[in-house]
Amino acid sequence: MSEHSSTETGTDVLVVGAGGTGLALAAGLARRGVRVRVVEKAPALSPVPKALGVQARTLEVLEDLGVVPRMVAEGLPMTAMHIRSERRPVADVDLSLIDSGYPYLLMLPQSAVERILADRLAEDGVAVEHGVELTGFTDTGAHVAAVLRHADGRTETVRAGWLAGADGAHSTVRHLLGIPFEGTALEENFATADIGLDWPLGFGDGFAFLDRGRPAAFFPLPEGRYRMVIAYPPGADPGGEVTRAEMQAQLDRLGVPGARVTDFGWSARFRVNQRLSARHSAGRVFLTGDAAHIHSPVGAQGMNTGIQDAVNLAWKLAAHITGGAPRDLLDTYHQERGAVARRLVAGTTRFTRLTLLHGTVTTMVRRAVAPRVLGRGPVQQRLTRAISQLDVAYPDSALNAGAAPSGGPAPGERAPYTGLFGPAAGPGCTLLVFTGYRGAADPEVRAGVGELTALAQARPGVAVEVAAPEGDDGLPGVRHDASLEAHRRFGLTAGGYALVRPDGYIAVVGALGDTAALRGHLDRWFPRAASAPTAGPRRQAG
Ligand SMILES: Cc1cc2nc3c(=O)[nH]c(=O)nc-3n(C[C@H](O)[C@H](O)[C@H](O)COP(=O)(O)OP(=O)(O)OC[C@H]3O[C@@H](n4cnc5c(N)ncnc54)[C@H](O)[C@@H]3O)c2cc1C
Repeated sequence: MSEHSSTETGTDVLVVGAGGTGLALAAGLARRGVRVRVVEKAPALSPVPKALGVQARTLEVLEDLGVVPRMVAEGLPMTAMHIRSERRPVADVDLSLIDSGYPYLLMLPQSAVERILADRLAEDGVAVEHGVELTGFTDTGAHVAAVLRHADGRTETVRAGWLAGADGAHSTVRHLLGIPFEGTALEENFATADIGLDWPLGFGDGFAFLDRGRPAAFFPLPEGRYRMVIAYPPGADPGGEVTRAEMQAQLDRLGVPGARVTDFGWSARFRVNQRLSARHSAGRVFLTGDAAHIHSPVGAQGMNTGIQDAVNLAWKLAAHITGGAPRDLLDTYHQERGAVARRLVAGTTRFTRLTLLHGTVTTMVRRAVAPRVLGRGPVQQRLTRAISQLDVAYPDSALNAGAAPSGGPAPGERAPYTGLFGPAAGPGCTLLVFTGYRGAADPEVRAGVGELTALAQARPGVAVEVAAPEGDDGLPGVRHDASLEAHRRFGLTAGGYALVRPDGYIAVVGALGDTAALRGHLDRWFPRAASAPTAGPRRQAG
């Protein structure tokens, strides 16, 4: 085909980039019946393992796609991270405390996550278009005219309703929008390698050695090897390819007797940038994943944050395109995820600085203070909530309505894990109704439950689940909460409801009989009486 040959085509959403972010976004759209195309300039999915840790919150929000059982089967759950400072133990982080159906950090290379998401996308009939590069676009206000260059030199103009840049840190979409990517690069250089290890400390846990500005960390890989990551102080990096001898030399200085590199796989050198795009959206164009934020890999947050950006945007775009939700629902993507990215970049910067401390006094303080602070139960709980991203919340979202019940989560917070209800995320919203300790035998409770159920059933995209003490068998969709544990977790032991968004966050909370906030929310955001009209059915609890 000649270089000048061009065609014109159309789609609802054009996703640029088939990394974890773009694939999760496209899969979330296709699952809801949105016409989507995914273009990727590379000739095939990347075999590079890069990111390794999949956080509990990412697994929760991916439940609706049905990919989690395969991810868990292929991955390795890591339940503990041991931290040493200058050869002395300073903390053991117990990841089994993560309050989720996934009480661990799942070690699964990014390449495997991408393969699983691409397979899921293919189930909905969408194939990633490899060897296709976005080179330009114009946002006309009514649609986006995007120019694609195919591997054979052909150009194509796509008329897309919306354009999503999931095209990584060097995002073409962000450059074309002229949105600055502000931040800094750390002076330290990092090296990483996937290695076989004779490792006397036992396989399965993670280890971090904070050694006067030369930290080294080890993470178990599903195939029995370890990912080793080291940091060099400015100017100390040997440069060139990472070698087995280099990793062995770094291993030797850690003082783990008998530790030996036995084989050597993928490796890379990298520098850490901490950057944020000034906006996550402009007109009909969105930025997601690394295109919008990059930061230190300490804490394994990058791929996870990108996937969670994608899940947030997918249901909103689908609700607007196929469900008649107002356009300003899409503004909440920037509002919510921009705030998350700002907190994330600030948090990972602080955390990384802490691991890179090298002064005698500061490392002594770290060694003295860290064991006392990090050993405390509540601190471990907070730490594991932060690492696993269970603490991500949207307290200032325009979508929030109602007030936090005493002892329960506020609108904008994650719906707590109870093990009682179906998946944490769904194709549309879910109304969780709690009868309270009085149970549905109480006429007032029964009337309240009936009113809520009718309200939800009038909106085809809203699923209803009812939690009740034993004996309330006549209620539709009832789940028995014998000990009222689920009620307690939502702060609704006296009865009430929580409207849970498709991405597992609470939008509205209220008491039985007080449905004004719920009605207001549904009328405002889902006026066409549906939050996900074309989505497939909600998955059953696993
Ligand atoms: C060594 C290392 C370790 C890491 N470890 C972790 C970890 O443990 N946990 C974690 O969560 N994160 C980790 N990260 C970060 C993680 O890899 C990234 O955050 C993640 O890859 C971002 O995904 P993405 O889909 O947004 O972007 P990318 O993975 O960069 O994908 C962008 C895609 O867009 C394509 N593209 C670019 N421009 C165009 C164009 N114009 N047209 C078409 N296609 C285009 C690219 O080819 C690419 O495939 C690590 C990173 C590194 C470097």
